[in-house]
Amino acid sequence: MALINDNYLKLKAGYLFPEIGRRVRAFAEANPQAKVIRLGIGDVTRPLPPAILKAFHEAVDDLAKVETFAGYGPEQGYDWLIDTIIRESYNPLGVQLKTTEMFISDGSKCDCANILDIFALDNKVAIGDPVYPVYNDTNVMIGRTGEADDKGYYKGIVYMPCTEANRFIPALPSEKVDIIYLCFPNNPTGAVATKAELAKWVDYALANDAIILFDAAYEAFITDPAIPHSIYQIEGAKKCAIEFRSFSKTAGFTGVRCGLVVVPEELTGKTATGEPYSFNKLWLRRQTTKFNGASYPVQKAAAAVYSEEGWRQTSEIIEYYMENARIIRQGLASAGLAVYGGVNAPYIWLKTPGGMSSWDFFDKLLTECNVVGTPGSGFGPSGEGYFRLSAFGNRDNVEEAVERIKINLR
Ligand SMILES: *Cc1c(COP(=O)(O)O)cnc(C)c1O
Repeated sequence: MALINDNYLKLKAGYLFPEIGRRVRAFAEANPQAKVIRLGIGDVTRPLPPAILKAFHEAVDDLAKVETFAGYGPEQGYDWLIDTIIRESYNPLGVQLKTTEMFISDGSKCDCANILDIFALDNKVAIGDPVYPVYNDTNVMIGRTGEADDKGYYKGIVYMPCTEANRFIPALPSEKVDIIYLCFPNNPTGAVATKAELAKWVDYALANDAIILFDAAYEAFITDPAIPHSIYQIEGAKKCAIEFRSFSKTAGFTGVRCGLVVVPEELTGKTATGEPYSFNKLWLRRQTTKFNGASYPVQKAAAAVYSEEGWRQTSEIIEYYMENARIIRQGLASAGLAVYGGVNAPYIWLKTPGGMSSWDFFDKLLTECNVVGTPGSGFGPSGEGYFRLSAFGNRDNVEEAVERIKINLR
């Protein structure tokens, strides 16, 4: 009989979102008249802007004609998309990249998971707590960890608590680690890192021969010019960091699927015999073997994000979400809650009132305000006592939800 990958059995059953769904359904069935507003989701709600849709349609039409038909493209993405992203999105930050250093994909979740293919299992990994669950669970699946303890911490992973005390920016790990996951602007806490804070991590990585896996899925939501959008804005980062970006939240591509990874050519690891070796070469080999590229129309649509019209329309949607974030943040703060995030990030991370548990606050909000959010404890033990609200809803719902919460807490 074929043996299974036993590492999967170490995973805690997908608990958070199924449990939220179960409680919301039970409430809605018992209270059919209640208008439930969902601010728990991490999915966008605005449709694709017209300029992007037009490019997407035209690319589909290209497929209908012999002269313009496109079959397999380069596994690592079309040069015209890569060069556009570098020119429009990295060069303005003062970051120069070569075409060969960027790899287009069908989204960032898979990239964050697949990147583990090019690292030995012996590496020590550090992860934030609370965290985007993908970083943790993919390390469990690949066999880098032991079992989880009662709190949900897996043996072998170094967890870096992100708390009110450190303003949700983790401290450097006290033990030596080889791979560090960082995500700024952060999901779920909405925290952003300054240049000085990122420089501290880059210096640590350079001093310890560690690699930073930098998830910049929310960089487009940064409005403060002092906050870096890319880890490569920090001196030395090309020697120690891989960066992930996604079109999902930036341009409403959660259903369209497009992301990218930057693996600089300077970035090296060590072979078993101690020789330096290029991670860029490994990732190219991995992608050309296991991936056949994002689809042609999707890459055309992604390139249109950077056209003048495309970017104007995209920015308007980002501003719409960020106005939602402001409304949530200010409304809840005026109701006396301690709120974090929501500035330069589309998530609001609030401290539950009176030391209530995350799930108790979830039930209170659902039953008394008919508003759904996400319990912070679902993102890791240090999320207990916190709660995440997303700014991706529509404006009327956001305003009504905030009013209901304000009245309830008064
Ligand atoms: C949404 C999200 C992504 C992007 O995922 P896609 O697969 O590109 O849709 C990546 N990282 C974090 C932290 C996210 O919240």
